[in-house]
Amino acid sequence: MHNKKIVSKFGGTSMGSVEAMKRSAQISKDHNSFIIAVSATSGTTDKLIELAKAAEHGNWDTCEKVLFHLQEKHFNFLNALNNPEEMKAHMDDLFLELETLSRGIFLLRECSLKAMDKILSFGERISSLIFTQITQQVWPEKKIEFIDIRKVLKTDSNFGKATPNIQATEVLAKSTFKDNGNNVYVTQGFIGSDENNMTTTLGRGGSDYSAALIAEAIDADLLEIWTDVAGIATTDPRICSDAQMIHEISYEEASEMAQYGAKVLHPTTMAPAVRKNIPVFVGSSFDPHQPGTWIKHEVENLPIVRAITKRQRQSLLTITTPKMLNAYGFMAKIFEVFSRNHISIDCVTTSEISVAITVDQTTLDNKAMIQDLKNLGDVEIENGYSLISLIGNNMLEKSGIAKSIFNSIDQTNIRMMSFGASAHNFNFLVREDESNNVIQKLHATFVGTLA
Ligand code: ASP
Ligand code: MG
Repeated sequence: MHNKKIVSKFGGTSMGSVEAMKRSAQISKDHNSFIIAVSATSGTTDKLIELAKAAEHGNWDTCEKVLFHLQEKHFNFLNALNNPEEMKAHMDDLFLELETLSRGIFLLRECSLKAMDKILSFGERISSLIFTQITQQVWPEKKIEFIDIRKVLKTDSNFGKATPNIQATEVLAKSTFKDNGNNVYVTQGFIGSDENNMTTTLGRGGSDYSAALIAEAIDADLLEIWTDVAGIATTDPRICSDAQMIHEISYEEASEMAQYGAKVLHPTTMAPAVRKNIPVFVGSSFDPHQPGTWIKHEVENLPIVRAITKRQRQSLLTITTPKMLNAYGFMAKIFEVFSRNHISIDCVTTSEISVAITVDQTTLDNKAMIQDLKNLGDVEIENGYSLISLIGNNMLEKSGIAKSIFNSIDQTNIRMMSFGASAHNFNFLVREDESNNVIQKLHATFVGTLA
């Protein structure tokens, strides 16, 4: 019996080899997981994108190479299984379907987002199939059941980055995942299906989000995110060697961290957990005995600065027009352009006649959007920035925080900053080449040995 309903998610590196899969299965057994959601094996989603693109561009040679590579990579896993023959038949079917779809894209020279989602689904479908068998071998006491999550996780038809239908998913999850005391489910992250049962995806890195949605749908007691680092660190350890693991962190802080660049969690993961107040554990499947990080509603200490994150390749768009002078509704027009283009804005500052907005540099590829902005005023674009965020608590009440920040990085030119909207963060934009240095200084001043 599962005393606690635990949903465990394992990322691509935790699926990356037979050994990694066995370790992940052992963790599920040790923790008595109820539902296990897995990512594609590491590197596979990238390869599937390469496959679809090559097909679209008419390079069948490349398609064959990628298909062969993926087949070889995954068939190698089968040697570790007790009954490879049975699995081989399943895998042959999947690869035949994948090849047929690629051929369709190749013949049409067209890969819609819808077709892309279908192609991408194979990564998770293959890894979960193999992982079901490996878990059964490692955990013979239970019946390990394979579930195609597309029958459960319903979304809209925004292919490439679908929005989940929470109510529909809850109904289907409750009737699918039934605890009879002896069963454990293995399923896929990242994928779902729309009203017409067409395959959708939740966007790159979406498996964390899937696991959180499943946890929400079944009212889980705990969501575990197993990855290749031993939790969430106070800053990126590659930038700052004295970064430390955070033992406990609030939902708000963790959400801000994910939003502002911490790579461990996908930014949307936290929302479902918050809605049902489900604690989230983040740990390394390579070193499961490390303490990891607990993300919860209530935590013991709430430091002013818990962590420092960075988002790279940011652009600053400044839209200026004298029409803004004493006018109203102008800001709404600007935001409307972003909203229509599904672009999320990270930071905004305004003056009487201009608005400055930070966005990911990739946003600039959307020429139509830039033109729409140009219709509203003069648009100046500056590239090569990083958005640095100090994440913590009660920042608005702490006097002198801005002064301490400026003192510790007094040689740096801060191009823009935003403070005041949230008690949990203080954001500012610096030149990319200065960003690591800024993080090191801030970390030494604010986080030091306190984490
Ligand atoms: N396999 C998908 C990706 O690489 C989803 C995930 O791993 O979270 O983006
Ligand atoms: Mg991931």
